[in-house]
Amino acid sequence: MSNLETSEKTNLFGLSIPELEDFVVSIGLEKFRAKQIYKWIYTKNSRDFDEITDLSKKAREILKEKAQLGELTLIAREISNDGTEKFLFATSEGEKVESVLMYFDDQSSHSACISSQVGCAVACPFCATGTLGFKKNLSAAQIAEQIQFMQNISDKRIDNVVYMGQGEPLNNYDNVVKSINIIREDIGIGVRHITVSTSGVIHRIEQLGDLDLQITLALSLHDPTDEGRDFLVPINKKWPVFEVIESLKDYYNKTNRRVTIEYVMLKDVNDSDEKAQQLGYLIKDLHCHVNLIPYNQTDVHDPFQRSSNAQIKSFKNILMKTSFNKTVTIRKERGHDINAACGQLANKHA
Ligand code: SAH
Ligand code: SF4
Repeated sequence: MSNLETSEKTNLFGLSIPELEDFVVSIGLEKFRAKQIYKWIYTKNSRDFDEITDLSKKAREILKEKAQLGELTLIAREISNDGTEKFLFATSEGEKVESVLMYFDDQSSHSACISSQVGCAVACPFCATGTLGFKKNLSAAQIAEQIQFMQNISDKRIDNVVYMGQGEPLNNYDNVVKSINIIREDIGIGVRHITVSTSGVIHRIEQLGDLDLQITLALSLHDPTDEGRDFLVPINKKWPVFEVIESLKDYYNKTNRRVTIEYVMLKDVNDSDEKAQQLGYLIKDLHCHVNLIPYNQTDVHDPFQRSSNAQIKSFKNILMKTSFNKTVTIRKERGHDINAACGQLANKHA
């Protein structure tokens, strides 16, 4: 019964101002109320009509009956020793959505890692999300609302957004693009502070390049050869290494935005000096930055191990030497103790 009531209410999160205006007029309120509500949703992160004190009590009662400020509900919140927070939300249909909030530079900057799907079809063997299989695409509002909700709970302003939670964003292309617009125009986070990470869905990379959104595009490469990548990122069987690198060059030509190459460091799998050389040649003419990700264990039985610090350093140095001249960073680990680190999101909570 209560579920039915909820689903009959109109979710105001993610509506444009004209859409909000039509809605408030349809329930008998003045048109200018729309802009007031909009301001409270996006500048004050309100999720409760009672907070909107410039509406009359009567107007708030009408709104509570007919509408809701967002559809996600909080199921769990965990805080890591390093301050990283992991949130488990539920959609109105009961699907679980995981998001992570990270603090950098002595708490002055906040990054959100958000999910675009429930589960993921790509099935990379080292990723906990991949083991869930594909469950569902999230809507644009469900994707963007994760940020507004985390801002509401934490009372912090989020500066950076990465699409690196559950899901392959470019397999949910239309909703992801719409969500970027909500995050940019309504929540107000600049496009240059938004990163979309993909396993390499080539036709979507082409479309995204044509949109020229000025976001950062990151490719999860993880191996410079088809043989290695077919195993680590199985989507490679459809879109092989050479083609995906060509699509990134086109992306750069269209947008003038340097891309990021992500490379998870797996001991004795893809971390040899020889692989670093091969990678260097592969991306020699690509305008890119390389981000090495120390592997995070997904469960005690998994067959992968993290590369040693010495090997990660050696790999990095090869890519930085003059013939390749790449900028290379090593990703700082966050939230490992609460399974909130890269690749550990699998709807498991303490
Ligand atoms: N599906 C997208 C975005 C989500 S994953 C993609 O694959 O790009 C974000 C990053 O974390 C990807 O580079 C992914 O390969 C990496 N990752 C997945 N599992 C990991 C693990 N166990 N340890 C470290 N990084 C992992
Ligand atoms: Fe999907 Fe990315 Fe995990 Fe691969 S690494 S299974 S593409 S979420």
